[in-house]
Amino acid sequence: MKQNLENIRRRIADAATACGRDPQTVRLVAVTKTVSVDRVAEAIDAGIDIVGENYIQEARDKFDALYDRPLTWHFIGHLQSNKAKYAVRMFDLIHSVDSLKLARALDKAAQNNAKIQKILIQVNISQEESKSGTTENEAMDLVTDISRLEHVRIKGLMTMPPFFDQPERARPFFHQLARLQSRIADRNIPGVRMDELSMGMTGDFEVAIQEGATLVRIGTALFGARR
Ligand SMILES: *Cc1c(COP(=O)(O)O)cnc(C)c1O
Repeated sequence: MKQNLENIRRRIADAATACGRDPQTVRLVAVTKTVSVDRVAEAIDAGIDIVGENYIQEARDKFDALYDRPLTWHFIGHLQSNKAKYAVRMFDLIHSVDSLKLARALDKAAQNNAKIQKILIQVNISQEESKSGTTENEAMDLVTDISRLEHVRIKGLMTMPPFFDQPERARPFFHQLARLQSRIADRNIPGVRMDELSMGMTGDFEVAIQEGATLVRIGTALFGARR
């Protein structure tokens, strides 16, 4: 694990440096779905400080076991509105907001918790039926609508391109998300930040960094193949 983490950190730094970016501007989200509490604890000892979870129940079990560790929790999976209250209690950043309905549920839950919930808007750039995310065309309106909610704050965008064997093939999707990010930023919508681009996984994170990723979500390269 420590060796894997060192390799990933080196690859992140190399990819950033090669395109003239400061490696510090790219943060690693360790994707811990199906990974046991013990192995997450091991990863924390090795230096992981952000974990990304996909499922609320699984995250609750780990959160209860690890809540006293110096760790930031991100949610990266599909979130149902009726689970918003659990999500708001655990997660510093929710990457996967793709509807006004979900944003409203988070807003209400955040208000009840006296919290401002940070979120990213998930965009389905590839328009695959199987993927969550708002469409590129609807993203601007969705951001504008959500910006009016008082207890959620948009910090950027997230996407998940189709799976390719060759990482280069994911590049156009990352590029398109980055272009959408700057179009939204140019609107200067009150309260909306476009600081974060969550994109890139084990197979394609270096390409994502070249295209502007600030959060890379990596599971397999860190923990090995999932069960
Ligand atoms: C599982 C998952 C990842 C990590 O994928 P790896 O290929 O194992 O690095 C990243 N993002 C999301 C949304 C995921 O569900």
